[in-house]
Amino acid sequence: MAELIFVVISVAAFFALAMNRATLRTWAIAAAVFTLALQIGLGFPLWTFLGWLLAGLLFAASVPDLKRKYVTLPAYGALKGAMPTISETEREALEAGTSGWDAELFSGTPDFAKLRRVAPITLTDEERAFLDGPTNELCKRLDDWRIRHTLHDVPGDVWDFVCDNGFLGMLISKEHGGLGFSAQAQSLVLGKISSKSADGVTIVMVPNSLGPGELIEKYGTETQKAHYLPRLARGEEIPCFALTGPFSGSDAAAMRDVGVVTRGTHEGKEVLGVRLTWDKRYITLAPKATLLGLAFRLFDPDNHLGKGEDVGITLGLIPTGHEGVEIGRRHLPAGAAFPNGPTSGRDVFVPMDAIIGGSEGAGQGWRMLMSCLAAGRSISLPATSAACAKAMARRSTAYARIRKQFGLPIGFMEGVEEPLARLVENAYGLEAARAVTASMVSAGEKPAVISALLKYLSTERMRQSVNDALDIHGGRGICDGPSNYIQGAYQMVPVGITVEGANILTRTLITFAQGALRSHPYLFAEIEALQDTDRERGLEKFEHTFDDHRAFLLSNAAGALFHNLTFGTFAHAPQNTGDVARWWRQLSRAARSFALVADVTVALLGGGLKVKQKITGRMADALAELYLLSSILKRYEDDGRPKEDRKLVDYCARNCLARFDVALSGVIDNFPSRWAAWLMGPLVLPFGARRLARDKDGKDIVRPALQPGAYRDRLTRDIYASDNETDGIGLLEATLAKVVACEEAEKKLERAIRRGEVRRFHDNDWIKDAETKGVLTVEEARNLAELRDMVARVIAVDDFSAAELARTHANPQSAGDTQPKHIAAE
Ligand SMILES: Cc1cc2nc3c(=O)[nH]c(=O)nc-3n(C[C@H](O)[C@H](O)[C@H](O)COP(=O)(O)OP(=O)(O)OC[C@H]3O[C@@H](n4cnc5c(N)ncnc54)[C@H](O)[C@@H]3O)c2cc1C
Repeated sequence: MAELIFVVISVAAFFALAMNRATLRTWAIAAAVFTLALQIGLGFPLWTFLGWLLAGLLFAASVPDLKRKYVTLPAYGALKGAMPTISETEREALEAGTSGWDAELFSGTPDFAKLRRVAPITLTDEERAFLDGPTNELCKRLDDWRIRHTLHDVPGDVWDFVCDNGFLGMLISKEHGGLGFSAQAQSLVLGKISSKSADGVTIVMVPNSLGPGELIEKYGTETQKAHYLPRLARGEEIPCFALTGPFSGSDAAAMRDVGVVTRGTHEGKEVLGVRLTWDKRYITLAPKATLLGLAFRLFDPDNHLGKGEDVGITLGLIPTGHEGVEIGRRHLPAGAAFPNGPTSGRDVFVPMDAIIGGSEGAGQGWRMLMSCLAAGRSISLPATSAACAKAMARRSTAYARIRKQFGLPIGFMEGVEEPLARLVENAYGLEAARAVTASMVSAGEKPAVISALLKYLSTERMRQSVNDALDIHGGRGICDGPSNYIQGAYQMVPVGITVEGANILTRTLITFAQGALRSHPYLFAEIEALQDTDRERGLEKFEHTFDDHRAFLLSNAAGALFHNLTFGTFAHAPQNTGDVARWWRQLSRAARSFALVADVTVALLGGGLKVKQKITGRMADALAELYLLSSILKRYEDDGRPKEDRKLVDYCARNCLARFDVALSGVIDNFPSRWAAWLMGPLVLPFGARRLARDKDGKDIVRPALQPGAYRDRLTRDIYASDNETDGIGLLEATLAKVVACEEAEKKLERAIRRGEVRRFHDNDWIKDAETKGVLTVEEARNLAELRDMVARVIAVDDFSAAELARTHANPQSAGDTQPKHIAAE
């Protein structure tokens, strides 16, 4: 018995010391006490010998001089060549953004108060009025079919409406004539527009994301601000931003576009300026742009600027009417209609004030871009992806309830319920992540790591939602035409996947490799110390962080083992989390495991962190699931914990944790070192991966979405909703309401048909027949007849004569119709 008590106390003491990050001295004292007890009470000679040896070693390691000689110096030497190095462009990228909730997750012991303090969705009266007013009106005016098929362009009247109502200046401050909207408001406006037309939102999104407007607002000279910002806000300038070239896609910093500081003639005078040569492609809005934002590498052979010969990446503002600027031709990206095309120029001379920030801004381009990207990437694509997921969920749930086969609404069939459950889950989760991230940006954060993971997560889940919607709609979703409300989104999916950092790169390289450096509490400081050219200074810094890092690692190892063995029962959950406290505890438990595996991954991969991308991709997935779960729990709380959403939260949480476990187990299975895999498995997944939500749970979250009501509305909030039955979306909603209202009458009719009392063929009016035979009342028959017509319109697809198709492709309407009025006038 005494032995048992001794073992229990010792194990508890071990976990308490490790999880509380005890110092080496405390460990030494604990080892001595343990050994003394062992010696007095139990008298095992071999064990006491080992115990004293351990206590002695720990004590020696805690003596500063000995620690430096026997611990720090060898570790410093071993890690110096093994850790990843940080290039200048990487450093600028790392320093450009901020870290917040990502750092909490990397810490293994997230402070939930920080997440809960992020503001729930809040809009000013002006922002709300803009969302309900001009944004709704714009959605009404966007004729998706006309845009993407007939004109293959955004029409001039839409451009005019967008420009006249200030849509292009949402991020420009009021002081400079813009709307000065918060990130949350911008995100909601973009989302709503995208739920009506993917091309339509692109012309609003690009000027409001990384591009001349934001760059000038943040880094422009006062003259640039005063000149350009009001014009951009009013839509008198259409901007585009050119970074990508044929030989510099994902590796944008490797651009061959060049500027040379030299003297030249501008407006009849000889001035100092830049002679530019560039070749860019894929540039959104370029064919219509009046102002070209251009990234290039600046050289100053005569050192006019005093910054040396290779000044670095620099950003310029070039009016597209400037002599030598080649612009106007178009690409055809995935059949989408928004303007996109190449631009080039050879030996184009511009004055120095064409550089964003003037000569001060020369060479600062990469830092400027990375800083804007960290915030911008948190808004545009998450907003449009979440809106797309919500729109696909709303339309597919309606269609699945309306469309019947085998005498049943297809949404009641388990095979269809499966993709419907994914649609519902994605709609809920993506909106949660969108909202919390936008609030972080509204509060001034520039979340570099979160924006990267959310970019790939949201666009991948959007792709899944669009594919699921297509499968559920069958041929109705595939055949294109004015009544098709899925194809526009389908065409746009690959664009979202590719822009702002193509997903493969963002998942496998950016999220974890950058995340580990940006969000890990010690790694960046350690690498800086290892790279310090002053060895003594570096060693001192290294010693300090290495010591903390050691305690951190042990704490997470013990924490992970303890919480995984006890199924998270004792993990931390914040106060007042009510009926979902268990999921907060599971989040705590998972964060411990993540922090531990992240640490071991970095230690094992070292300099190979950027190369072992299958491993880092899975780590990114694990982090993304933790972020998604955090956002979902936060949303549930912000929404006031609606009872009807509880099962949906359970469903999402189960799946997030199961996918998290699968990602971590994939990492561990593929560790380059077998002993590490052997050690980590029991610590992190002692009982294997958790299971996905069950089939029955899927039914619980889908069924309430198959009928009108608060659950369905909350799930698909803030997308464009129409009550106009002449458009496909409005017709779906009206028909869904009618289906539910006519449910009982339909059952009577179906029974009569099964009995053979009434025959349902094209050559007779079976509803009238049922009425005549007393199966249906007059009113039931009238309603069912109306429903029959509505359903026929919902399931109808468009058809065209061969000539119509040939004509629209070969001879679209005149280009004049697609120009904003002020550009057409020039
Ligand atoms: C419709 C559209 C609009 C665009 N708008 C603009 C715009 O307005 N302005 C602008 O400057 N650019 C724009 N772009 C360019 C866009 O940012 C690039 O397409 C993108 O950066 C990828 O470059 P790439 O197409 O050359 O692909 P590549 O760089 O050739 O990449 C091909 C594949 O390899 C992967 N890959 C590359 N390197 C790595 C790596 N190290 N590790 C793992 N995977 C890697 C990528 O993820 C991708 O899947 C647009 C592109 C499109 C298609």
